[in-house]
Amino acid sequence: MMFPEKIQEYLSNKKNSELALIGCRADNSNISYECCEYDIAVLAKNGNGLGNSIVQIGKEKLEFLDFSNYNQNEISLLNMKNVENKTSSLLIPHKDSIRKTDIKRIFLSAGKRRAVDSLFNVSKTSTSKSELNLSLNLKIAAYELIEAILLISEIRPMPIHELNQLRQLEIRKDFIKEAIQLCIECIGIERATRTMINRSLNALKEIFKERYDIGLIESKIEFLVEHGLIADSYYYIGRLVCNHLEKKDYAHQLDYQKLNSLALDLAGDYENIKRSNLIKLYCKNLMKN
Ligand SMILES: [Zn+2]
Repeated sequence: MMFPEKIQEYLSNKKNSELALIGCRADNSNISYECCEYDIAVLAKNGNGLGNSIVQIGKEKLEFLDFSNYNQNEISLLNMKNVENKTSSLLIPHKDSIRKTDIKRIFLSAGKRRAVDSLFNVSKTSTSKSELNLSLNLKIAAYELIEAILLISEIRPMPIHELNQLRQLEIRKDFIKEAIQLCIECIGIERATRTMINRSLNALKEIFKERYDIGLIESKIEFLVEHGLIADSYYYIGRLVCNHLEKKDYAHQLDYQKLNSLALDLAGDYENIKRSNLIKLYCKNLMKN
């Protein structure tokens, strides 16, 4: 069974769109937490989607994610599972119709693109004048490099599970092991405490106050903290905020500097700046591979 009965019932009655289960609940690795929502891709090809939304059914949450410009090469859709409802599945490819070599290629190129992003952000650390901004860019670069490593290993990064995904990763090359270690140090996980998570969470709520999924994010962080997964929640908050900020320009980053600094605990990061060159080196190594 992919879903608890109530959810199955709810979804079977949806008749307007083709649906597929994606995200950690579609993954065969059993990595999901109780707090994880069911991610439902709403597939279409016409480009007129309804946007994302969250629905609560009993204790469970469903998140509908708009894929109205459906593209078969999208990494988050590679392992999707057809949801039986009142539409016929025209868009969901038959299992195994995407070749293994194609999947490898899709992951590899996504990984390399992420290494390029990381290199771009870490290169800013030699030009920026503000200490907090240096630390911010280094942190963004470290998260991006970790994503690059997972993608190149054909693993789709899932923010709340990423530390676990790293723990389970089979690493064949020494430089990858060193790169992960370096990123973890740059992210500052060893500094994680409950007090710090509380402070970061408050700042995150302010930064994300416009987002439709803030309630879901908050409940996931609370779940991690309640279950003593302090390092994971520290990592998760940092990952979400860095992901949000990497798309913002310098002026925006400066405007929200105080909040960003609280959310990401940047004051503790300044010492790490001297490691920028190593991050650069690992990015370049990864791009060559
Ligand atoms: Zn999950």
